[in-house]
Formats: sequence, C-alpha cells, structure tokens
Amino acid sequence: ILFGPPGAGKGTQAKMLIDKFDIVQISTGDMLRGAVSARTALGLRAKKVMESGGLISDEIIIGLVKSRIQEADCQAGCLFDGFPRTIPQALAMIDEKIDIDHVIEISASDEDIIDRLSGRRFHPASGRTYHINHNAPKRPGFDDLTGDPLIQRDDDLEDTVKTRLKIYHQQTKPLVEFYRNLKSTHYHHLNGLGSVEAITEKVLSILR
Ligand code: AMP
Repeated sequence: ILFGPPGAGKGTQAKMLIDKFDIVQISTGDMLRGAVSARTALGLRAKKVMESGGLISDEIIIGLVKSRIQEADCQAGCLFDGFPRTIPQALAMIDEKIDIDHVIEISASDEDIIDRLSGRRFHPASGRTYHINHNAPKRPGFDDLTGDPLIQRDDDLEDTVKTRLKIYHQQTKPLVEFYRNLKSTHYHHLNGLGSVEAITEKVLSILR
C-alpha cells in the first residue's frame, strides 16, 4: 500500500514501482475517474462527490476493489494507491484475507500539498502526473510520451484540496496507527519532501 495525503506523490511512485516489480497498480481514484469518463452508473454517482473532495461510500469502494483483485493480472501481487482510505476499507481487506506485505507512508505538510496540487497536471489516458515546477513535462502542457494535452483535475482546485485534507486527517490518518499495530504488515514512513528521484531512491531502499 502506498499511503499518504493527496498530493504526497503516491501516484508518481506507484508508476515507478509497478514497472520495477512487474505488478499491477490498483488506484481507486483512477478507476473512479475511468467510470466518470465512461459515464457508467457508478461514474455518474461518483462525479459530484469527487468534485467536492468528499469520499465515495465504503460499500461502493470495497465492492470495486473486491472485484478488481479477482482478475488474473492481480495474482502476482498488486500495489494499492489511494486505497484503503478508511478503517472499514482496511478491515474489508482483512476479511478478504488479502495480506499486505508493506505499507509505505509518504508524508507532507498541508502547505506543501496545497502548493503541489495547484501546480499538478494530469494525463488522463495513462494516469501520468506532472507538476508545472517540480516535475515539468518537456513541453509545457503536454504529455512527454504521447504529446496529448494535460489537464488540471477539478479536485486539485484550492478549496477542494482543503476539503480533501480535512477528510484525510479525519478519516484516513487513523490508518497509520491501524497498520503500525498490524503485526503481519511492515510499516514504513518517509518524508515526501524532495525531488521525485530522491523519493524514488528512498522507496526502493525501503523495499530492498
Ligand atoms: P485520488 O486520485 O486517489 O486522490 O482519488 C480521487 C477521488 O476519488 C477522491 O477525492 C475520492 O472522492 C475518490 N476516492 C478515491 N479512492 C477512494 C477510496 N479508497 N475511498 C473513497 N473515495 C475514494
């Protein structure tokens, strides 16, 4: 599990880890954005909640993840990014007998997060993320690999970011103690300040 507040750099590190370890990334945020773009029933219900910075109900998220992990490509293991976000979601994984080998918490202060998210740009088709200053695309506004235009997510607007942070502190942060106390899991913490490369190096050295 890659764990941390929105904008801590989980998505960027997830992309590196799935390549390196040849496992799949399960990002509930990406799955929900996919459902919104495809205008499925789930997407239509989720859109408003996501735009407001709120959380989708545990029941929906747990159902989504349970069916995703049944798929063949998850047999070799997977990396959760943005999941679990509440204690009931974490308990559901235990009920499903999903062993979590490692939880890596990437932390960042609220001020840094607000700065980061307002500069974040996103390539919808691949999930690649950039920052206009700290991880700029080669050509401003366009994806490095495909040349497609980048977008700013609605939920990266400042007021929404503040709501997301509040919810993170109330509902998600308690998972730190939860996983620290879970004997079957290795819990690691690292400070998310620094270049993408420096954080990648820290993540890899933890896993080595
Ligand atoms: P993310 O890309 O992980 O920041 O997710 C974007 C949005 O999707 C969040 O602000 C929530 O509205 C929703 N979402 C993603 N993952 C979850 C989750 N595990 N539980 C509840 N809502 C989620």
